[in-house]
Amino acid sequence: MEIAGCVPVPRAYLCQNHRVASFQQFAETCQALSQTQSRLQMAELAGDFLAALSIDEAEAAARFMIGRALPVGEEARLNISGRAVWRVAAEIAGSMDRGEDIFAEAVDFGDAVEIVMRLRSEEPEPTLTIAEVERQLREIAAVEGRQARKRKLDMLRDLLLRATSLEAKYLAKILIREMRHGMSEGVMLEAIAHATGAPIAEVRRISMMQGDPGRVLRVLRGGSVERATPTVRPLKPMLAQAAATVADALAMLGPNIALEHKLDGARVQIHGTGDGVRIFSRRLNEITPSLPEIVEHLSAELPGRRFILDGEVIAVDRQGNPIAFQELMRRFRRIREVERLREQSPVRLFLFDILSVDGELLIDRSYQERFAILEDIARSAQVELAGRCLPANLGEAERFYDQARAAGYEGVMAKRLDSRYSPGIRGRGWLKIRGAHTLDLVIVAADWGYGRRHGWLSNYHLAARTRTEGKFAEVGKTFKGLTDEQFREMTQRLLALKTGADGATVYVRPEVVVEVAYSDIQRSAQYECGMALRFARIVRIRTDKEPQDADTIEGVAAEFANQIVHPKL
Ligand code: AMP
Repeated sequence: MEIAGCVPVPRAYLCQNHRVASFQQFAETCQALSQTQSRLQMAELAGDFLAALSIDEAEAAARFMIGRALPVGEEARLNISGRAVWRVAAEIAGSMDRGEDIFAEAVDFGDAVEIVMRLRSEEPEPTLTIAEVERQLREIAAVEGRQARKRKLDMLRDLLLRATSLEAKYLAKILIREMRHGMSEGVMLEAIAHATGAPIAEVRRISMMQGDPGRVLRVLRGGSVERATPTVRPLKPMLAQAAATVADALAMLGPNIALEHKLDGARVQIHGTGDGVRIFSRRLNEITPSLPEIVEHLSAELPGRRFILDGEVIAVDRQGNPIAFQELMRRFRRIREVERLREQSPVRLFLFDILSVDGELLIDRSYQERFAILEDIARSAQVELAGRCLPANLGEAERFYDQARAAGYEGVMAKRLDSRYSPGIRGRGWLKIRGAHTLDLVIVAADWGYGRRHGWLSNYHLAARTRTEGKFAEVGKTFKGLTDEQFREMTQRLLALKTGADGATVYVRPEVVVEVAYSDIQRSAQYECGMALRFARIVRIRTDKEPQDADTIEGVAAEFANQIVHPKL
């Protein structure tokens, strides 16, 4: 299949005379990035560093810099928690009992690891190279089978034993995916443009296809993508913008649209590789082992075929009724329990798009053409499609929406018939019209609870995305909706993201996305945006979403305007 590696690479993008860089130099560059405020300067600093490396090292370093240990889709196999990293580091330093003091002093997790590693009697010389660190991380990820966990930790120990304290700090940060130096994927793409001389639009285009900045850099430097990615590559899924009503959606997309049921489950991208079936999540993690029934079914129905299908899985009970989303997420997390969960909560797959078939990439074809191909494949594979209609007018569209809501669907998706599939883009090709009053918001701070919730961060400050990347606007607070166990887990998670505190309020990096139900939106002077959610309650923790998937403040404003016109909606 031809994915991006096909772009002819202008000579100007090729760099010569690259040196081998030590991991220490990588760590020092990250340190410098954390002290740089301006986006432009960050892109230049990172870009200059990457430009001086060999293709292999630049690929790994670009990924490391945004807190990704391995290529997209392969990270989940590492399976090393922050707690495990801490244990190994503390053991090496012989300071297992100092955790509390160190965490109180440290500004973040990586800092804590650096502090504990400095307690070693001797600091090793920096001898690790970027390539070596990458190779060892790959080896750790490849460990499977008996005693996998122990063997992974032994290998991590070997790596940390050789690391300087600063290197250990950044290794820890990469492993828990929290760099905290402000290098987002967007800034990284600018750094890559700076490093290669490629226009930023070209860098973004390739990124849409590759889904991983390391691979983008490799493509632009003229390297073979296949060498870097011997395995199947997931593409970023196409995303949808929100529309408040069916009428709004029609006004935005024009009359030539399809409406589909919006299923309330988890996005899956299913690859037929010719010799098997592999499945990736919305965040491009491989979840093949979690969904054995889909793998078995498609392997049997479409043997030897190559394809990429896009769809949603929902979990159902034994009677076939949909069950809580959290159950489905549990299935993705607990690989060991899959067989039992498979019995308890089987999944149903619904397809709604096809990205490639028999080696031909279809993303530049229209939705209408793709759907015709999908219908064919789905029929021969006996897989369900998302229910849909091609409404002739607004009345028909509204009827479909009402029926969908009455049947219990979350809402509908409106898709322009002539739209291409834009990986990773939240464009105007697809719009979601949700019936329920819920918004996906990001937790930006939390208050320590009192009374029954003492010891937990339990009142969450909720914020919507703004147009400025990485900036969020608060629209409400809630302490409702979580179970005790979820409060405990959330407290741990937020503490790891802490950036500061003020009295009982802990400020956190905006990373945790929650779906929030509310009764209505009111005018409020309390928040800068002038709006506040009333009776907000968390309905789900969206572990499948990233902050850039959250609803926007414009979306909140549209909901606010809409509720004035249609008080019952
Ligand atoms: P949201 O999660 O609210 O941003 O809505 C977009 C998500 O809805 C997609 O990422 C899919 O996981 C899900 N979805 C459910 N049904 C469909 C459908 N028919 N077409 C596209 N996405 C769908």
